[in-house]
Amino acid sequence: MTNLSRSTSHVNTAAILEASGYRIRGKRADCPNCEGHSRLTVSFTDDGRFYCHRCSKGGHVAQLARRLQIALPPPRIAKARIRKEEFKRWLSLQMTQMANEEHELVKLWRYGLDLLEFAKSPIGEPPNQTQIDYAWTQIANYYHEEQRFLDFWQRASDRIGRFGLYRKWRRRHVR
Ligand SMILES: [Zn+2]
Repeated sequence: MTNLSRSTSHVNTAAILEASGYRIRGKRADCPNCEGHSRLTVSFTDDGRFYCHRCSKGGHVAQLARRLQIALPPPRIAKARIRKEEFKRWLSLQMTQMANEEHELVKLWRYGLDLLEFAKSPIGEPPNQTQIDYAWTQIANYYHEEQRFLDFWQRASDRIGRFGLYRKWRRRHVR
């Protein structure tokens, strides 16, 4: 919900009163709470205070606005915008995590390739079987995950792909 206490100064007092059932006539208003003769019994100020001299009901339009927001169906556009912001934050976090994960895997994959390369060369002590197994595991790990990374980056970088990620995110995060 928008911060009303901060935004009230930018809000038209008369417009909120009117939306709440007060009929504005110049600098006065008819009271919707009073029975019978209620014409022009309400006075209000530019900074949002209002008061009915007949029924003594009054306060600040921020309260009326808050009540209106609860009574009305939630504003769809605002909700969609908040959701989009949340998704953007989620996607940016995913991209960071994927990049880190990929960086680690690539590092170990390169290490594996280097070790096998070194094993073939006549320089120095050859690596033992444990080291060679480890190298192959690192290489296999990367090949195993490679497609997942390719898919992710593909999806994250085009509109249709991002829509797919958005739907996945919604299923998981939006009730
Ligand atoms: Zn009144």
